[in-house]
Amino acid sequence: MQNIPEQIYSRLQITYLIGSAAIIVLYLTLLLGQFLGPGELLGTSPLNLGIAVVHMIYFALIRLWVNEKSQVIATAIDMGLFSLNIAILTLATGGFASAYFAFWLMIILSSAVLGLTALSIYISITAIMLFISALLSDDSWRYLLDNIVFLVASGVAGYLGLWLWRNHPQETSGDTQVTKLSQKLQVEQTKSDILLRSIGDGVVVIDYEGVIQLFNGPACIISGWPQEEAIGIHYQNVITLEDEEGNKIDEGHDPFKRAMKTKSSIRSNDFIILNRAKRKIHLSIVASPIFSKDNQIAGAIGVFRDISDEKRTARQRDEFISTASHEMRTPVAAIEGFLSLAMNEQVSKVDENARNYITKAYESTRHLGKLFQDLLSITKVEDGRLANHPEPFEMSKLVNNVIDELSFKAEEKNLSLKLKASNDKTAVAHNQVLPLFFVNADPERIREVLTNLVDNGIKFTPKGEVSVSITGDDKYVTVGVHDQGIGIPEDEVKHLFQKFYRVDSTATREIGGTGLGLYLARTIIELYQGRIWVESREGQGSHFFFTLPRLNQEQANKIKSQLERRAKGEDVPAEPGDIVAPTSTSTVE
Ligand code: ADP
Repeated sequence: MQNIPEQIYSRLQITYLIGSAAIIVLYLTLLLGQFLGPGELLGTSPLNLGIAVVHMIYFALIRLWVNEKSQVIATAIDMGLFSLNIAILTLATGGFASAYFAFWLMIILSSAVLGLTALSIYISITAIMLFISALLSDDSWRYLLDNIVFLVASGVAGYLGLWLWRNHPQETSGDTQVTKLSQKLQVEQTKSDILLRSIGDGVVVIDYEGVIQLFNGPACIISGWPQEEAIGIHYQNVITLEDEEGNKIDEGHDPFKRAMKTKSSIRSNDFIILNRAKRKIHLSIVASPIFSKDNQIAGAIGVFRDISDEKRTARQRDEFISTASHEMRTPVAAIEGFLSLAMNEQVSKVDENARNYITKAYESTRHLGKLFQDLLSITKVEDGRLANHPEPFEMSKLVNNVIDELSFKAEEKNLSLKLKASNDKTAVAHNQVLPLFFVNADPERIREVLTNLVDNGIKFTPKGEVSVSITGDDKYVTVGVHDQGIGIPEDEVKHLFQKFYRVDSTATREIGGTGLGLYLARTIIELYQGRIWVESREGQGSHFFFTLPRLNQEQANKIKSQLERRAKGEDVPAEPGDIVAPTSTSTVE
């Protein structure tokens, strides 16, 4: 059975209390009267007493313990038993003229508690009962008259009952319920207010049109807009976002618009809010869509916090690392140079032992030099200061250069280092004898990437071969660096291109490194709209690949001549369809 409405339940409670008291008093009177003497006077029969005993047992054993849900049925049984008893008593003691008639009227009156249906049933039963008793009597006509009065009185009592319940304070239930509901709502609202106030981050909720519906305290502090002014206006007037370069965020990059469009959360630490006092504040923002019940986008919620201090600290840290590495690189390079002179037999005379020590010192110094160089490159990459002069160049040449430079290192380990035959899927179409793989990027940066990959290949291959391949299709040039070394465990692969990440194994611990090379490689390749990845199996070697957008000869020549003209000081505007490689904002080395 469904939960009974609260209104009916409270009525039942009242009826139950009054009714139970009346029933108990009456039954005790009947029983005591029967046994103490005036039984005839009370008009009781064994049938009445029997029903009374059953009713009291039911009352004590069942009625008192039924749960809330079964109250309606329990009350109906209660009233049924009682009214049956009273009906028999009333009819047996003179009907309309009986003293029990008052009880009967009370029953009718209270039956209205269960509503019009219950009342109609009672009145109908009354009518049937009276009709039968009239039929059974000798003077049916007189009885019929009495009974009509009986019935009318019952009807009036029933109507009165209905009227009473409906105008009872409980019955002004429309208002009461609204009051209760609004109390509930207030409790809920207080809860969510407390919650929103205790969130240290700014919270803004906008509807589908972009109108602010909710704006908490920290949001007011960050934006400089008071709540009462912010709520009800478009969020773009309140949350004016810019990118790190100070350009206004366009529609395509607006986190709220993107969250609603992509139906997913957008996170970023790269936005700046221009607050009401025109102060710039770095934000960390998460914008998420809000869905309606039918899964439609109903708006968005943004949670943001001021990360200006963190950004400042990070910048200071990077500047420190950058300056420190730059300053230390110079003396380290000098030490490296002098050590290499000391190792050179034609220049210095040292005994075998000393040469060994000097060689070890030289290797460690080189390692240190590489670490400073990597750290410097990384801080530059991260704040956009990495020297970057894109120009069209042919990849095979660069690959051959790098192989030449590193072949000495490979020989030291007895490894073979070679270029695999190039495979150009478009060579036939282009009618070329030798495939040409032009790309538009800074050759020095790509050399850095390739050197790092080949150097790793040599480092992590105890014996066998390291090779480089170049393949290409219409759109991309793909360079692969293959080795037959220790390989990389499957679960490490996804972390490999993160900053400072090194696979932790006995082999790698012995070899040493900074964990910066691959991170740097990824950053550089992605700068030129390329992709870098690895395919590897532990113990079975690794295959590192990177792709870069390919230029055909014609495009390469055109860009080259544009660059030359620009170098001469000519103003050469970019033409539609030109392939433009990104350049860094500054070129500090
Ligand atoms: P470093 O080599 O200085 O440690 P990298 O970023 O170049 O830093 O490489 C990160 C890690 O990736 C290395 O420490 C090594 O564990 C793993 N790795 C890179 N290249 C290879 C390779 N060719 N074979 C096996 N492991 C490799």
